[in-house]
Amino acid sequence: QRAVQSVYRHDRASSLGGVAAHAMRIEEDVKLDYKAPRTSPLPTTLLLRPRSTCAAASPSSTKRSWEGVPLIVANMDTVGTFDMALALARHGAMVAVHKHYSVEEWAAFVAAHPEAAAHVAVSSGVSTADLQKLDQILERCPAGQSAAHKARPSATPQTRPRHTSLQAVQTICLDVANGYSEGFVSCVQRVRAAHPSRTIIAGNVVTNEMTEELIMHGADVVKVGIGPGSVCTTRRQTGLSAVVECADAAHGLGGHIVADGGITNPGDAAKAFGGGADFVMMGGMFAGTDESHGTLVERGGKQYKQFYGMSSSTAMAKHSGGVAEYRSSEGKTVEVAYRGPVDAVILDLFGGLRSACTYIGETPTDMTLH
Ligand code: 5GP
Repeated sequence: QRAVQSVYRHDRASSLGGVAAHAMRIEEDVKLDYKAPRTSPLPTTLLLRPRSTCAAASPSSTKRSWEGVPLIVANMDTVGTFDMALALARHGAMVAVHKHYSVEEWAAFVAAHPEAAAHVAVSSGVSTADLQKLDQILERCPAGQSAAHKARPSATPQTRPRHTSLQAVQTICLDVANGYSEGFVSCVQRVRAAHPSRTIIAGNVVTNEMTEELIMHGADVVKVGIGPGSVCTTRRQTGLSAVVECADAAHGLGGHIVADGGITNPGDAAKAFGGGADFVMMGGMFAGTDESHGTLVERGGKQYKQFYGMSSSTAMAKHSGGVAEYRSSEGKTVEVAYRGPVDAVILDLFGGLRSACTYIGETPTDMTLH
């Protein structure tokens, strides 16, 4: 089941003379997506509790550490919601909250739910307006000395995470559809300079060179994956191969990666971790839940909720007044069967990850990232 794909690869040539800053070459080697590899059971007597401690260390290192379950809900306006953040925080995981909440809504959320602050990231694009709003949100939700927080993955939905003395939003998610531009690198650099103590997640990229570039310019966690998203209509890319390549590059520099997009079940998430991902980001897995936004519609006696890509015409009509003339819609809109509260999805994911670990003989230590 191995697929050979030709991949256009962006090379950041040296900045010498500024010529051909982005050359392209075609790669013909084998690339894997999440469907391709199968995991094989190994004997084990271990009982596992997936958990993760992630020290965000990079050359620009904040030396912050974050402890929790390394699953992040994508910053899409359907699933990256405050309601989702509250549910995920109860389980020790994270939400990259979408960028369309106002500064006031952010301030109200953090004031009302300080316990969730360590489990949300503020998302931003690279436009001046986005970056100004990011600064305003972070000003209203100041960084604490220690927002690191002991998560309890096995906590029941009713159990709230432990409070720490000072809660604040510590994580920034800088997100562009294609991270291959000088502009993006310098944006990461500027945000790092402005927020030296916060963790910066930045992407998306799919190659080792660009992973290194982003880490060298201030990213703590590089977001990896262009094209594999469930509601993405760009050409299918090389989900797992990109994860393996970028994880290797990031770890070599003491950085981290998040595998973003294309994860459709707990087994895919296990493969991403097996491929070296420190975190996995998912959108579609959380669609159709109570905590996702969108109208519940009934058809043929069944209930559905809308889920769409952030570059879809639905998202563009909602946030930018329609598809801009110079770009095409690169996301689709789908209706997902209604799934009730997200807790069931989370527990299913945790259960699947535990089983995967048990089958391949992982130890709890192997699930601990440093
Ligand atoms: P999923 O978990 O649904 O497979 O993938 C989620 C990821 O898909 C997001 O984190 C984001 O990187 C990507 N994504 C979201 N919306 C779009 C879109 O409209 N077009 C493309 N190409 N990717 C998208």
